Amino acid sequence: TVRVRIAPSPTGNLHIGTARTAVFNWLYARHNGGKFILRIEDTDEERSRPEYTQNILDGLTWLGLNWDEGPIFQSDRLDLYRQAVQTLLDKGLAYRCYTSETELDEMRTAQKARKEAPRYDNRHRNLTPEQEDAFKAEGRRPVIRFKIDDNREIVWNDLVRGKVTWRGSDLGGDMVVARASDESHIGQPLYNLAVVVDDIDMNISHVIRGEDHIANTAKQILLYEAFDAAVPEFSHTPLILNQEGKKLSKRDGVTSISDFQQMGYTAEALANYMTLLGWSAPDSTKEIFTLEEAAKEFGFERVNNAGAKFDWEKLNWLNGQYIHKMPVDQLTDQLIPYWQAAGYEFDPEGDRTWLEQISALIGASLNRLEEAVEMSLVFFTQTVEYNEEAAAQLQQPGAADVVNAIAQALETNNSLSADDAQTIIKQVTKEKNLKKGVVMRSLRAALTGEVHGPDLIQSWLLLQARGLDKLRLEKALA
Ligand code: GLU
Repeated sequence: TVRVRIAPSPTGNLHIGTARTAVFNWLYARHNGGKFILRIEDTDEERSRPEYTQNILDGLTWLGLNWDEGPIFQSDRLDLYRQAVQTLLDKGLAYRCYTSETELDEMRTAQKARKEAPRYDNRHRNLTPEQEDAFKAEGRRPVIRFKIDDNREIVWNDLVRGKVTWRGSDLGGDMVVARASDESHIGQPLYNLAVVVDDIDMNISHVIRGEDHIANTAKQILLYEAFDAAVPEFSHTPLILNQEGKKLSKRDGVTSISDFQQMGYTAEALANYMTLLGWSAPDSTKEIFTLEEAAKEFGFERVNNAGAKFDWEKLNWLNGQYIHKMPVDQLTDQLIPYWQAAGYEFDPEGDRTWLEQISALIGASLNRLEEAVEMSLVFFTQTVEYNEEAAAQLQQPGAADVVNAIAQALETNNSLSADDAQTIIKQVTKEKNLKKGVVMRSLRAALTGEVHGPDLIQSWLLLQARGLDKLRLEKALA
């Protein structure tokens, strides 16, 4: 059975790259009726933070990437890793290395001078007990290194990249699996060791992760062998690239899922977009689908092995598609937090109908939910500033007449229906012998401070519901 996992390190908020890896794992699990497991890799005590763990759990939940087991915290399992390190020592596959930081630095400097890649030269692989005692007497605390045979060829059949071959000599020498340790105590276990121990213990069948982990995979395969465990399938997914074709990083600005959420991307659109970062449906014209729909067709045959460029324009378009088809009550629910965050004053329950009318009015022009803040500002403030075009419009011949006449009409009727509003506009147009466009533009300028915008009659009625229309007309005349 298929058992896959996402294993984020809580050293930052949920990153788009991790989230996309989670999407692929989730899709693969669901496609195969398998299990999707969440493991929090928090062994790095200095850089791990509980608030990042929370951000990761919230982000995965928000995206709809529900997990079947976990979260399992590596920090709860340190004993297991220490036992595994002990097993490696007992089998003679690992050893204590007393090389100091200074000696490592010298080693690297010398290698650099010879234009060689930096690597540990395995100098402590075969220390005699007397040599060890001498280092201990100096007070050195050893790390534990796992032996890597330089002549080994490591080969696996990657589900995305096909046959991958690594040489042991390209892995940087014997690798550290645990930090500062002594006779009676094994120090902090390190990433590659903990991952393999967990993936074995959790019966992971497929390790699906970013291409940046390829060298780790080569090392990890050696560890599986050392533990006499079955090696899982590996699938290295392409990296997400920025506009310059480089790996998307913090420097590219928005990269965490909570930032996307704040900007008004919907969970469904973002999940859909991430699915398309490297995968395409068998019918490649089909680009809009739910995670469940994608899961039906997902497989690694259709995962590209070239990097996937992050395309804001496409994400915005896709997000717009989701917003535009959202029922009004749902859209309103989603917009309310943005209006609240903007400090707009309203009663979410008492003003519900009015809020839904605003959603209905502007929904079709939104590509991101957050855009509603600016687009609906006019309904939430007492007065408006006229932009240049609106100010000019109000100076046009006839404009003041129009505004005055409409203000007059409101004296006798201040609870207009859409029909009433139409009738008033018609009457004024006729009376003043103006073009309808002039009347509409002047009215809009006075009411909204702009000459473009969503349906004017609807906007007018929404302002009227708050007693703002008269106020605005009067201000335009002042
Ligand atoms: N903690 C690792 C990361 O966040 C997990 C890599 C893996 O899936 O093994 O990159």
